[in-house]
Amino acid sequence: MSTSFAEENYLKIIYRLSEGHDDDISTNAVAELTQTKAASVTDMLRKLAEKGWVHYQKYQGVRLSPEGEKIALGIVRKHRLWEVFLVEKMGFNWDEVHEIAEQLEHIESDSLIEKLDAFLEYPKTDPHGDPIPTKNGVMPELGYLHLSDIKAGKRCVLMGVAKDSAVFLQLLTKMQLSLGSALYVQEVNAFDRSISVSIDNAPAAFISHEVAKNILVKLA
Ligand SMILES: [Zn+2]
Repeated sequence: MSTSFAEENYLKIIYRLSEGHDDDISTNAVAELTQTKAASVTDMLRKLAEKGWVHYQKYQGVRLSPEGEKIALGIVRKHRLWEVFLVEKMGFNWDEVHEIAEQLEHIESDSLIEKLDAFLEYPKTDPHGDPIPTKNGVMPELGYLHLSDIKAGKRCVLMGVAKDSAVFLQLLTKMQLSLGSALYVQEVNAFDRSISVSIDNAPAAFISHEVAKNILVKLA
C-alpha cells in the first residue's frame, strides 16, 4: 500500500513523539507539530487508523501499529541517509541538510535507497550523530549521554545532537563544536547549571545548561 506525503509526515511525527516512552500521543501534540487544526488532525488519524497504521481512540490519543512503525522507520532511514549524502558527497554543512532531506525522504524507490546506502558505505549515523535505522526497521541504540549530565573533571567526545534545527547547529559551529570534538568539563556552576568546558584543548568556554542538554556525548 502506498503512502501519501502527508500520511508519511504524520507517521514520522507520531514516531518522534513516541520515542522513549509507551504512552499514547495526544491529538494536540500532533496538531502542534504539524501546525494544523485539531479537527484536521483527527480526520487524518482516523484515516491512518483505517489503513491499520495507528491505533487511535478519540480522547485517548494515538499510537503507531507495528506496520505504522515500520513505515515511520523507513522514512527516518531515508531522511538520515540523504543527510549523509548531502554532507559527505555534496559538500553541504550540517546545518543546511535537514530541510532538503525533508523532501528527499519521500522518494519511493527502495532500490535507490539500498544503492545509496551501499554508495555511502553503510553509515551507522547521520551528520548529526543520529542512528540510521536498518533496512529491516531496527533503530540502533547508541546509548549516548547528555553533556548536561557529565560531572566536573570528566572527559568526553561529542557524538551527536538532540536537536537538529539550523540555528542550534550554527551556534555549535560558532562555538567550534562539531562531531568528534574532545570535551573536558572543568566546572559545573551551581547557580544556573551552566558548565565551563574546554573544547579540543582550547581555553575553557561557557556552555549554557540549555545547550548542554542538547549535546550528546560518550565518556572518553
Ligand atoms: Zn534531519
